[in-house]
Amino acid sequence: MVLGGEIEIIENRGRPAESVIATYGPRQFIGEISLLTGQRVYLSAVATTAGTGAARSGRPGAGGHGPGARPQRAGPVAIVGGGNSAGQAALFLSRTCREVHLIIRGASLETSMSRYLVDQIERSPRIDVRPHTQVRALLGQGKLEGVELVESVTHHRSSLSVCGLFVFIGAKPCTQWLDGQLAADADGFLLTGPDIPLWQRDPSGPAPLFLETSRAGIFCVGDVRSGSIKRVATAIGEGSMAVRLVFERLQASGVAVANPPRAAQ
Ligand SMILES: Cc1cc2nc3c(=O)[nH]c(=O)nc-3n(C[C@H](O)[C@H](O)[C@H](O)COP(=O)(O)OP(=O)(O)OC[C@H]3O[C@@H](n4cnc5c(N)ncnc54)[C@H](O)[C@@H]3O)c2cc1C
Repeated sequence: MVLGGEIEIIENRGRPAESVIATYGPRQFIGEISLLTGQRVYLSAVATTAGTGAARSGRPGAGGHGPGARPQRAGPVAIVGGGNSAGQAALFLSRTCREVHLIIRGASLETSMSRYLVDQIERSPRIDVRPHTQVRALLGQGKLEGVELVESVTHHRSSLSVCGLFVFIGAKPCTQWLDGQLAADADGFLLTGPDIPLWQRDPSGPAPLFLETSRAGIFCVGDVRSGSIKRVATAIGEGSMAVRLVFERLQASGVAVANPPRAAQ
């Protein structure tokens, strides 16, 4: 966050910003963010890096867990999803679980997973890939004991005994706290720069800079940005670009800026 031309990084671990850009003016503070601590912060520019959270399957009792999570015992487990996260989780869990069932809606992993992961999965005797398959229900009393599956081509139903279910079906952007105040795509990821359609721009405001949202002075980087490549290196790179762009916006709007960063020679 940039305040009066000086950068202030607010240590915010476990204390999420819960609301929102309240006020907007060309030469006044642009926003007000309230933290769960009760603290209010007034800002000349904001960069949001709120990232994404796991999308939920909608099945009662099914959670989303990262590949660091381990089942209680090394029994069979199922993973839903055919992307790289699911592939990494399958390989990780195959080290400790007797059987790993990878359940995918499509015909094969090739269309959605990197080749290096597909190759390792094909070589693993413990990983069983189930194409054209979806989870219909969770089975068990008090704890997960299995899943009911349906095969989408034949509509054949079957049950599979598993003690763990891991869901990797994509991510939802953490933008609810913005309450629709910034232009977003149909999935809720924030639009920036040239991707913002004209009708969603402020007609009296300046043209948005690359990484700038539909409100001048508010920037967005990393996974939460529409169209960004969802990678650590991208988030870091966009973050460093945003610093320069924030200074550009502050200078253009007449806010005094001490020692703006220079472009690399
Ligand atoms: C399972 C999995 C495996 C992956 N593997 C790789 C890999 O091998 N290589 C790779 O390059 N990338 C990988 N990625 C992608 C990578 O993790 C992301 O691209 C990267 O972390 C994006 O960084 P970010 O800062 O945009 O968002 P995040 O890392 O998601 O950080 C967002 C932060 O904002 C916080 N936040 C959210 N809302 C608020 C709020 N209202 N107030 C305050 N704070 C808030 C969150 O708690 C979080 O700490 C993987 C992702 C997943 C899920």
